[in-house]
Amino acid sequence: MNQARNGGARRVCVLSGGVGAAKFLSGVVAAGAGEETAAVVNTGDDTSLYGLRICPDLDTITYTLSGRVNQQAGWGLAGETYGARQELQRLGDEAWFTLGDRDIGTHMYRTRRLAEGATLTQVTAEIAIGIPVALLPMTDGSVATRVTVELPRDGQPHEVVEIDFQEYFVKYRHAPRVVRIGYRGADRAEPTPEVVEALGAAELIVIAPSNPLLSIWPILSLPGLAELVASRRDRVVAVTPIIAGKAVKGPLEAILDSLMHQSDVATIASLYAPYASTLVIDTADAGRSAEVAAAGIEPLVTSTLMTGTRAAADLAGVVLEALWS
Ligand code: GDP
Repeated sequence: MNQARNGGARRVCVLSGGVGAAKFLSGVVAAGAGEETAAVVNTGDDTSLYGLRICPDLDTITYTLSGRVNQQAGWGLAGETYGARQELQRLGDEAWFTLGDRDIGTHMYRTRRLAEGATLTQVTAEIAIGIPVALLPMTDGSVATRVTVELPRDGQPHEVVEIDFQEYFVKYRHAPRVVRIGYRGADRAEPTPEVVEALGAAELIVIAPSNPLLSIWPILSLPGLAELVASRRDRVVAVTPIIAGKAVKGPLEAILDSLMHQSDVATIASLYAPYASTLVIDTADAGRSAEVAAAGIEPLVTSTLMTGTRAAADLAGVVLEALWS
């Protein structure tokens, strides 16, 4: 494994979740900066099912950057088949978590290598072979994002329960109201040395257009990382995941409404102001620039909707401008 694969020498470090981050990173690669970039990837969504270790955000980025992602879904592999899932369902298994047949191969490989004693960082580099961006799991330890939700019950008051992130996201299709989000184990899990080095050495740190509370906060909850990113605030640029008060995809809007009573670009500004000096906001929100600035973060207005590789490359180009100018 060479130095570049481990990410230490990279000029750009991108804090990353899944789909939004993967699209942004495809833009970074198309803009010609893939080899200069390391991605620190959330593992709070990771889960074990059927004895297999599943890392959704790492796999979404890997499949996207290798050009094999299911473009419509934004995750999973294109041209996937679901024979294993059909067999499970035939046997009466609920099989609520969609696992494609070839995708299962990735999880089998990862599970075997981890059982042999390899770290998640090593296995990820093996799986991401050929990808220019260095993919760095935020930790080789165990962190589980836990979501406290109100589960509706037929004809009765709802029940407040804490569930695993994937149960919330996939089993319940992120429909229940969220009342709390926690990152179990984050206070004890160490960020890897590769992550600390990548964040410490980068000339530019980017917070990808990801879900702040489900994808970025698990990373910043690891010991020392919030302080490290805040100490480099002058070099940190965040990209909004909210456009005109709406999440492009997923439950972010509903979660912000529930936990922060507001879900617009000013909410994103207040969340990221301690960590980033610039917030890239969408042209649709240009009129909110003064509010963003008042939250203590400089707005940079551009088109942020990544409708394809070209749009993602244009967005990446604007973000990387700071580095190249
Ligand atoms: P997940 O872990 O797969 O949910 O993915 P992320 O946390 O990386 O990204 C989810 C967030 O990305 C959502 O809040 C979306 O609003 C945001 N997002 C997705 N696509 C785009 C886009 O094209 N532009 C912007 N600005 N945000 C996006």
